[in-house]
Amino acid sequence: MIFNYEFETLPREALEALQLKRLQQVAARCYHTVSFYRKAFDNAKVKPEDIKSLDDLRRLPFTVKQDLRDNYPFGLFTVPMNNVVRLHASTGTTGNATVVGYTKRDIETWAELMARCFSAAGLTSNDIIHNAYGYGLFTGGLGAHYGAEKLGASVIPMSGGSTKRQIVILQDFGPTAICCTPSYALFLAEAGKDMGVDMRALKLRVGILGAEPWSERMRQEIEDKLNITALNIYGLSEIIGPGVSMECAEAKNGMHIFEDNFIVECINPVSGEPVPYGQPGELVFTTITKEAFPLIRYRTKDMSCLHPEPCRCGRTFVKMERVTGRSDDMLIIRGVNVYPSQIESVLLNIEGLEPHYQLVVDREGTLDTLEVQVEVSEKVFSDEVRILQKLEKRLTKDIKDLLGVSAKVKLVEPKTLQRFEGKAQRVTDKRKI
Ligand code: ADP
Ligand code: ZN
Repeated sequence: MIFNYEFETLPREALEALQLKRLQQVAARCYHTVSFYRKAFDNAKVKPEDIKSLDDLRRLPFTVKQDLRDNYPFGLFTVPMNNVVRLHASTGTTGNATVVGYTKRDIETWAELMARCFSAAGLTSNDIIHNAYGYGLFTGGLGAHYGAEKLGASVIPMSGGSTKRQIVILQDFGPTAICCTPSYALFLAEAGKDMGVDMRALKLRVGILGAEPWSERMRQEIEDKLNITALNIYGLSEIIGPGVSMECAEAKNGMHIFEDNFIVECINPVSGEPVPYGQPGELVFTTITKEAFPLIRYRTKDMSCLHPEPCRCGRTFVKMERVTGRSDDMLIIRGVNVYPSQIESVLLNIEGLEPHYQLVVDREGTLDTLEVQVEVSEKVFSDEVRILQKLEKRLTKDIKDLLGVSAKVKLVEPKTLQRFEGKAQRVTDKRKI
């Protein structure tokens, strides 16, 4: 289902013409209202009038998270505060919070984007949406909320936490869709089971899951435990919040980026040069419809891959693959680059291991150590010690083979590792360098 047929299926040429016009406007607006942009453009010896084609975007300077911090809290806003109707701040996965602002029109744009996401998941005004994204400064809760209302669905503003209550509501209100992080979806499935609830028999049909990296195996696990279709949604506060891109239910292989609102680039994170379609790189977004807080060439640090091939759903927007990690949450262990999500994909491929894990990085003398703590399934745990030893060996070997690092594997009892109601914190880095 397509919420905004006209825009979501624009032929490429018309889409690019629209992008160019909007880019020219946003570049001029940034240059003339924000001293940070004026300086950055001047340093790069480029003026807004120099943008004559979409390729000219590459002449504009990048913006990075540090620029947001340097202009904390409102220094990059292009409208006076009396036009700002909402403020949010990112959860600060990696450092200080960054602040974002919205005009009335921005809130409407965002609601439409989220309505498009729900539509792409096959939802309509007949659906009841259980929204377990956190409400508050975090963009997840309110972003999804306004989108659900825009669609005309019935929204349950659950927010995160109170897991038992969530399960009661899931049973009593019979929502047909759930929004939360993938790790929380698994947590709910497990908690419900512990309460004696048949989580597969709920009315839930679809999960709109995002805000953290996850894997195809994790999708299967969630779909199986909750008996739903699990779809990936992507976004970040800086760009607008959730609703930058969304997987369509028809193809279920990659998230369409709403290109009438955002221009996407995929670059080599070291050289800053563009990488070809289909090659991994860092995503860079330019917002072309946002009023209060537009961003030019914002480097997300999110590693993904772009695919322009036509999709069976009819949308003409380019798709991005699952984010494999952030170029800045990359761990360097004895000189080897490791993404937590790579370890996740290894352990999820081994029968008997659960998708609950923790990575503990430390340093003995001058050598980095990596300990992977993983829960085993009930069944394996009650088996003989020999089976556990075999699993341990297998995981150690697979990590070594795939990532080239030696990890110490520690299998732990089911349900002993910490669970997360929001973003999972998988890494404890104890190194003092
Ligand atoms: P913070 O950087 O403080 O976590 P946000 O709460 O805005 O800020 O989180 C945005 C980040 O969350 C993205 O840049 C990305 O790294 C991650 N993210 C969001 N959605 C997904 C997704 N579907 N898959 C993987 N990562 C995601
Ligand atoms: Zn599609």
